[in-house]
Amino acid sequence: MASLNIRNVKKAFGPMEVLKGIDLDLDDGEFLVLLGPSGCGKSTLLNMIAGLDSITSGEITIDERVLNNVHPKDRDIAMVFQSYALYPNMTVGRNIGFGLEMRKVAKAERDQKVQDAARMLQIDHLLDRKPAQLSGGQRQRVAMGRALVRDPKIFLFDEPLSNLDAKLRVEMRTEIKKLHQRLGTTMVYVTHDQIEAMTLASRIAIMKDGIVQQFAPPQEVYEKPANMYVAGFVGAPA
Ligand code: ADP
Ligand code: MG
Repeated sequence: MASLNIRNVKKAFGPMEVLKGIDLDLDDGEFLVLLGPSGCGKSTLLNMIAGLDSITSGEITIDERVLNNVHPKDRDIAMVFQSYALYPNMTVGRNIGFGLEMRKVAKAERDQKVQDAARMLQIDHLLDRKPAQLSGGQRQRVAMGRALVRDPKIFLFDEPLSNLDAKLRVEMRTEIKKLHQRLGTTMVYVTHDQIEAMTLASRIAIMKDGIVQQFAPPQEVYEKPANMYVAGFVGAPA
């Protein structure tokens, strides 16, 4: 668990300023959803938290530790992507434990963690299969298992459900919510889907034009949208 502070963070790609000063303060165990249309900079912000994109200016801290120049591997953060990026030639079990293997975690401890994660995600009967033998939803669970075994301070999700069909999306949304309730770990979740945002978030940050338009709990966003844009986006009556 961890608090996360994003302070006046800006991001430019060459002359194009994508993020124009983002301020977000999260308490331990919050579920932040970054909501906004395609191209508004959600993934860029997530990548900066993960250390996959550099920070042009401003500061990101976890538990008051400044992350700006900390290598991604040393950030205690795990990220789940939309494309699961599983290793096709490895079993499910090895896919889940591979990060630990790379960190030279002993086999016995690794196996235990893989077992625990797989059980929590209800894929413990699939550990000997290859990714090609899994359904989309099962693959998504494997990707989540890979994040889980690392026992991170923060989980980051970048539109993890957008490749799934509607029924599976609902199922996995519930799964992620359960995971959060069970672990209590701080999570940051990117989506352009209002329903996902409303059901998962402790607070939603609605982004547009490189700026956070509103940062508030779902009910407040719905009942008191900060401006016309937010009202239109969450579909609340104006
Ligand atoms: P979102 O995830 O909200 O769809 P992104 O964060 O991926 O948006 O992108 C925000 C903007 O930054 C887009 O206009 C995108 O084209 C641009 N962008 C993202 N990554 C790069 C990059 N590596 N180089 C140049 N422009 C980029
Ligand atoms: Mg994106």
